[in-house]
Amino acid sequence: MDDRNRTGISLRADRYARVMAEWHTVAPGIHQRRYDPFDVSIVVIEGDDGLLVVDTRAEPGEGEQLRDDVRERFGRPVRWVVNTHAHFDHTFGNQVFVSGATTDASIHGHANIAAHFAEYERPRLAAWADDPTRESGRHWHGVRLTSPTHPIDAPTTLDLGGRTVELLPQPPAHTDTDLVVFAPAERVWIVGDLVEESGPPMYGSGSFPLHWPGVLAELAATMRPGDRVIPGHGRVVDPAFVARQADQLKLVADRIRAAHDDGLPAGEALARHGDWPIPLDFLVAAVERAYTQLDQMSPST
Ligand SMILES: [Zn+2]
Repeated sequence: MDDRNRTGISLRADRYARVMAEWHTVAPGIHQRRYDPFDVSIVVIEGDDGLLVVDTRAEPGEGEQLRDDVRERFGRPVRWVVNTHAHFDHTFGNQVFVSGATTDASIHGHANIAAHFAEYERPRLAAWADDPTRESGRHWHGVRLTSPTHPIDAPTTLDLGGRTVELLPQPPAHTDTDLVVFAPAERVWIVGDLVEESGPPMYGSGSFPLHWPGVLAELAATMRPGDRVIPGHGRVVDPAFVARQADQLKLVADRIRAAHDDGLPAGEALARHGDWPIPLDFLVAAVERAYTQLDQMSPST
């Protein structure tokens, strides 16, 4: 992995070396596979009318490999794609599945994804095109940013034939495009990067460090013991894990807010404590984002 730039991409890539080489059945008809790079979770849900695929990996070539893996394992058409959020490692394979491509699937995702692409992912692509050595491991020449064909701005039920799934757009948290997929009969939640298991939660581009803990706590409160939760990166976890991660995010948010309230410069907010629940290099972006948001709320300070 490219380690020359301490960007969020490299930070994440540094930490993920494992790959689950096969499909793991989480519940009957619901399968997770963990793909490197980034140990990103891909989920396939089987319906009588076809397959639903959650997230599409980090570049078109990876999306094509995913499409081929799904075809080989399940041998049925992909009718629906759902994006858990806009980040590149979950969406840059979209073009492989969209109508007019080989699978002709409808793509469902948070209604803000197109705007998020314009603000973050398009500039990210442009910066890479100007200087590919910044992220030399990426193959983004052929990326066509492909927003959901079905933008979701309210809870929506998809009927897959013999099975329904709920698409639950979330308030701003990990991004302003988070969407949870819930299979009510099987009590399986697919939560994207609202939860991470194989690495710390990632305050990536467009995150809302102050709002994230509340959103996650509310989600955890609607889960039942025994429910299974598929994170954006890592192994299946339980609701107690989700609640613990919400607590960690809240501690971070509370401390950043206190530092800001006390007039501490952003650069000094982290040095105030020696026992952060998340590695310091992951928190720099959290402080930057939170300070910007707090400054906007109280421009006089
Ligand atoms: Zn993400």
